[in-house]
Amino acid sequence: MIQSDLHEHLSSGDAARNAAFRTSGVNAPRVMIVEDETSLAMLLAYNLEAEGYQVERIERGDEAELRLRESPPDLLVLDWMLPGASGLEICRRLRARDATRSLPVIMLTARGEESERVRGLSTGADDYVVKPFSVPELMARVRSLLRRARPERIAGRLVCGDISLDRETRRVRRGERDIHLGPTEFRLLEYLMEKPGRVFSRSQLLDALWDLAAEIDERTVDVHVGRLRKAIVRGRERDPIRTVRGSGYSLDETFGKA
Ligand code: CA
Repeated sequence: MIQSDLHEHLSSGDAARNAAFRTSGVNAPRVMIVEDETSLAMLLAYNLEAEGYQVERIERGDEAELRLRESPPDLLVLDWMLPGASGLEICRRLRARDATRSLPVIMLTARGEESERVRGLSTGADDYVVKPFSVPELMARVRSLLRRARPERIAGRLVCGDISLDRETRRVRRGERDIHLGPTEFRLLEYLMEKPGRVFSRSQLLDALWDLAAEIDERTVDVHVGRLRKAIVRGRERDPIRTVRGSGYSLDETFGKA
């Protein structure tokens, strides 16, 4: 069942279509899979990675608990029956801690007894999927749960305050308004939105966003930041880009939060 499913997915073209998101790198949403069935965990990891998520696989419940304390992911796919600690115990402990109280959790259960118990119990999971399930079904649940819980963390889409940037459609919106950006301004905004709060020097921006062969100096960066601001800030709207004197530019991490 799993083998044929894997084959179907390898040839479906999903991976190729989404390959562009792989470059989203460190900013990609992180999904942790806690599942002791290695073949199923690998299948899920493969498909999630193809959609641009960073994936971590863990097979034991007790190991997962340690890891979840160290570095909680953006979403957790959690099997119910695990060695070390059950999915139910893990989920309850996550909900008891502030840092992970609202961590999105999809619980995997085997058909039969456990799934009946899951339905009847308050597990603290946001969603659950009964095995055997189809991979596209789980992927759809992951997307919809992330969209609901952490809209800014969906692969391919960046959100900061009322500004959203869609890498797939290349559209930028502020509130209800479409913003038309040139390709350089688009890349600049995308780059800043990937790491809110981080200050980039002019030379870092030049290295990251411009063709090295091009004859440009650091004032070019100021010109494009100026154009970007003009495009996204209207009237008395707040400027999301911070100029840090002597250092460079950053996307104001408090933007949209005040
Ligand atoms: Ca299991």
